[in-house]
This record gives sequence, structure tokens and C-alpha cells, in this order.
Amino acid sequence: MRELTYIARRTVEWREAPDPEIRSGQEAIVAPVAATSCDVDSSILAGHGFIDPPFALGHECVARVTDIGDQVTTVAPGDLVVVPWSISCGTCAPCRGGLTAHCASVPHMAMYGAPIGGSWGGLFSDLVRVPYADAMLVPLPAGLDPVAMASASDNWSLSWRLVAPHLQARPGARVLVVARGSIGLYVCDIARALGASDVLYVDPDAEHRKIAEGFGARTAEVIEPVPHGFDIAVEATGRVDQLTLAVRSLAPEGICESAGNHFRPGELPLLDMYLTGVTLRIARDNVRAHIPDALDLAASGTVDPAQVVSHVLDWEQLPDALPEKHLKPVFVRDITPPPAPAPAPAPAPAPAPAPS
Ligand SMILES: [Zn+2]
Ligand SMILES: [Zn+2]
Repeated sequence: MRELTYIARRTVEWREAPDPEIRSGQEAIVAPVAATSCDVDSSILAGHGFIDPPFALGHECVARVTDIGDQVTTVAPGDLVVVPWSISCGTCAPCRGGLTAHCASVPHMAMYGAPIGGSWGGLFSDLVRVPYADAMLVPLPAGLDPVAMASASDNWSLSWRLVAPHLQARPGARVLVVARGSIGLYVCDIARALGASDVLYVDPDAEHRKIAEGFGARTAEVIEPVPHGFDIAVEATGRVDQLTLAVRSLAPEGICESAGNHFRPGELPLLDMYLTGVTLRIARDNVRAHIPDALDLAASGTVDPAQVVSHVLDWEQLPDALPEKHLKPVFVRDITPPPAPAPAPAPAPAPAPAPS
């Protein structure tokens, strides 16, 4: 089988790898059918990552289960599933506490698409081994489009977590979104659906702003800090000056969520933050714990993540198309399951009893 492999700045290529095999009863093999790039993949492709190539790329997809171990009970061959970006066992203490990005059964940072905590391959691969199928895989609810939900592995579900719990605690809150990619747009969609009274989306990219406006957000190319302007701020730029803008725009006791990917160090206005009373959370997402909530919201019909999909491309276009700058390209193949074998002919009906 082939793995899409990051080999140098703006360069990826297919490389052959052995087909993955089931090694224990808890495992599954899946074939991605709709895979997309995480916002961090753009940084990696631009050469801003911190891991030397080559490595298999990709950690967002909906896949079809092709094989399962004999202890797997929650999915079956043929099912469409969301594959979380991080590897988690579901049974260790951190996993049982919902901290699935900190699973104690695998090396720290075990994930698809970057060999930080061991090598698990990438989701832009023809086949993928899932080591804990029951704990990790989430069946895609009927009626949800695999293309629109390819990002449920990470960015869509992360965006739910960045804003939904805070809006539940602060109904009608004002939300500032400072972003550059899909995460900020998903946050706008979710924040409006969940009753934010105001959403301001800040991004120099005009196309992105248009999508945010479609979600009911106000937009701006750049802004100065708006002191006490927002109850919730979400930063997804990887730039510390933009994180500073977010925290300096918070109301007293406001909360700022940073989606991270700050590859460079920087300084924050800590005294300002102290005086305002700011909670800043910057954390890898324990995504498996809330994929079901994020899918439920998508299935409710009050949001429209398909608006963020910028291109639907064939799987074979991955090497050429992925390094181009796209907002959210989804690469697809074999989304429709192969036709079921023709049913055996029905037995002939029993002859009607003869009238007596
Ligand atoms: Zn990611
Ligand atoms: Zn675990």
C-alpha cells in the first residue's frame, strides 16, 4: 500500500509500505475514504514544523473499516468511522478520565501524521492500523456526509471544544475569533449556532472572512485590542502577537482558548492578564472524548461544516494538490460501498393448497 509522505518543504510523494495487519484482537484496519488536512499540516508543508522529514502525513479522515480483530465489538467491516488524530487505549487512568491525548498505554504524543510518540503512519494512506478500535473509532452517524465530516478527527471536534462548553457556561457570550484556517471558521459556525450574541472573526484572508460572514459573524482584516470587548476569545494563528490581541480583548474573568501550534517562543502581557483576570488554555485536544458531541451538533442541522470544505479532490491528486495552499481540501475515494453480492434467488413459493 501507499503512504503519502512529507519529504521536504512543499513536497510530498507516495511511498510504498507493507499493508498493515491485525496484530491483536483489539485492532482494526481501516481505509480512509475522505481525508483532509489539519490546519497544522499547512505549517508543516510550509516548512515550519519541528520534526525532520520524511514521515507519513495526515490525521483527519472518515474511513471504512476493512478488517477487525476478534475482540472488537463496536464496529464491523464496511462501517464508516471517524478516526481520531491521537492514539488512545480507552482503559488507562488518563483515558478513563477523558484525557485521551495523554494515554498512558502508548508513548507520549502518539498520533497519526507525525512520528512524535512512535510511528503510527498517516491518514493520507491507503490503509491504516487502528490499535484500539473500540476505544478510538466513532461510527459516522447516518445522514452525515463523510466529506463535510472528514475533519471530525481533529479540527471540527476541537472547534466544538474551544467554544461550546464556554457558551453553555456563559449563555449569549460575546466571542472573538482570531484565526487563519478552518478552526476559526468552524468556531464561528458553532458559536452562532449555540447562541453567541456577537461573533467577531479577524483574519487577513478575504475568502475566509466571506465564509465567516456566511456563518453570521462580523469580520475584520486586523484589529487593535478591544479592552473588555469579549467574554470568550479563540486564537488559532500560531502567532503570539495574535494571542496577545485575543487576551487583551477579554472582559474581566474572560477565557481565551488557544489552538496552539506556536512553533516560536514569545511573550504575553502577563500583568494585563492578571489585572483583567484571564483564563488561558493552550492544550492539545483530548479529541476522542468529545467527537460524539461534535458529531451530534453536526447532525442537528444547526451548523454547516460543508461550507468550510474548499475543494473536493480525487485521492490520486494528493501528491500534487496537497502542497498547494488550500483552506480545507478533502481527498476522496470509494465513499460508496461496493455493491453487496446479489442475493440468492428466493425459494419458489409453496404451491397453494388445492381447493377441496
Ligand atoms: Zn491537527
Ligand atoms: Zn489510554
